[in-house]
Amino acid sequence: MKPVSKNERLLVHVEDLTHDGAGVAKVEGYPLFIHGALPGEDVHIHVLKTLKSYGFAKLLQVENASPFRVEAPCPVFDTCGGCQIQHLSYEGQMTFKRKLVRDAITRIGKLPDVPVHAVKGMEDPWRYRNKSQIPFGMENGRVVAGFYQSRSHRIADTDICLIQTPEADTLMAGIKQKLMEIGIEPYEEETHRGQLRHVVVRKARATGEIMVVLITKKRKFPQAARVVELIRELVPETVSVVQNVNPEKTNVIFGDETITVWGKDVIEDKIGGVRFEISARSFYQINPEQTEVLYGQALEYANLTGNETVIDAYCGIGTISLFLAKRAKFVMGVEIVAPAIEDAKRNAELNGLSNTLFEAGPAEQVIPRWYKEGRQADVLVVDPPRKGCDEQLLRTILKQRPQRVVYVSCNPATLARDLRILEDGGYRTQEVQPVDMFPQSTHCEAVAWLQLEK
Ligand code: SAH
Repeated sequence: MKPVSKNERLLVHVEDLTHDGAGVAKVEGYPLFIHGALPGEDVHIHVLKTLKSYGFAKLLQVENASPFRVEAPCPVFDTCGGCQIQHLSYEGQMTFKRKLVRDAITRIGKLPDVPVHAVKGMEDPWRYRNKSQIPFGMENGRVVAGFYQSRSHRIADTDICLIQTPEADTLMAGIKQKLMEIGIEPYEEETHRGQLRHVVVRKARATGEIMVVLITKKRKFPQAARVVELIRELVPETVSVVQNVNPEKTNVIFGDETITVWGKDVIEDKIGGVRFEISARSFYQINPEQTEVLYGQALEYANLTGNETVIDAYCGIGTISLFLAKRAKFVMGVEIVAPAIEDAKRNAELNGLSNTLFEAGPAEQVIPRWYKEGRQADVLVVDPPRKGCDEQLLRTILKQRPQRVVYVSCNPATLARDLRILEDGGYRTQEVQPVDMFPQSTHCEAVAWLQLEK
């Protein structure tokens, strides 16, 4: 028997916060997830749904507010799915993220004694995103643009987003306002009608260069010149306007064809003195200020003297690889997306870093082959996607036994799982440093340093 039933109203005490930012209260041991509630608060709730071992409730009123509760400054915080914890002070967010990492390391990694340091956060945790992907649509005969609502493809219409650049705000609002006048229909997902699907705005923080990508349903784009004119008028720092064609009925943003409509094909940014050319579709860390902190941490844990060979697995466009190449003897990067490897090679050349080698392919296949060819690493850096390292890659590490492993992770749960496997194989986790790459959201990044046991 469940201790609560649907539509019941009750007063509960919130104990915890889930990894996606919902409050957790327990009624006779039965957990209820309450969006918007914070630990320590007593809240009036309305039970929405009860499943076998947990349920969901709506927050009606907060009886005693948490000292960490703040008024979310964003006007669409309640509907937009972009941020989850604006109602938690930044200090509270840092405590939350450190606990997320520590809990995972303790429960999943079974490593209660590993030090998990205080999160390295931002001085000003707003306006940090260097890339915005803005969906356009039509609602009640009006053009809307903003970000998707949580778990939905409805757009939360807005003219400002406090975690994106002011330039992205200007473009989002300005293009929305003039779209019909220019004669462009926004795309409608249900009917597959209309032309403009998304506008992607990228900014290179170090140089101030802006790229605008217009994702259209059709290649034919007679209004292109007028849009370019509008964009340049709105944001004169724009150096590149690119069209990407996505004719598919899909919620994937980009299509295969990319055409430069005006200006350059790429924008140029710098991280720690290394130059990077970024094209419309390149993967690139979205918080440039914190990227330096993150890579700086990876560099510290790599402890390079200039004599080491480093492998950077899951290297993307080679950002970590090139950052480390300045201080290592040789760096080898591997990445599954071939165009990213092309970017990495070009960026190595751009920086005159010839002590590097990049190869496209699955890390779990390429690295064992490198070892067979006699290419050994003193330090191995991994930065896998959310699902963590491939099992085969972990087996390779345990077989080849590099002295030092630096694990950069965007998911504490898979980080903890993989640390356990490496520990069982003879590595010792020295310490873990969380870095806040995504203020106002529940996403949590951390770097771990492991050493092979003597
Ligand atoms: N280190 C980079 C990118 C990290 S994102 C940076 O800091 O910018 C993780 C990367 O892993 C993605 O670029 C993804 O394409 C790549 N990837 C996913 N599975 C992979 C695999 N099996 N082998 C190699 N790379 C993989």
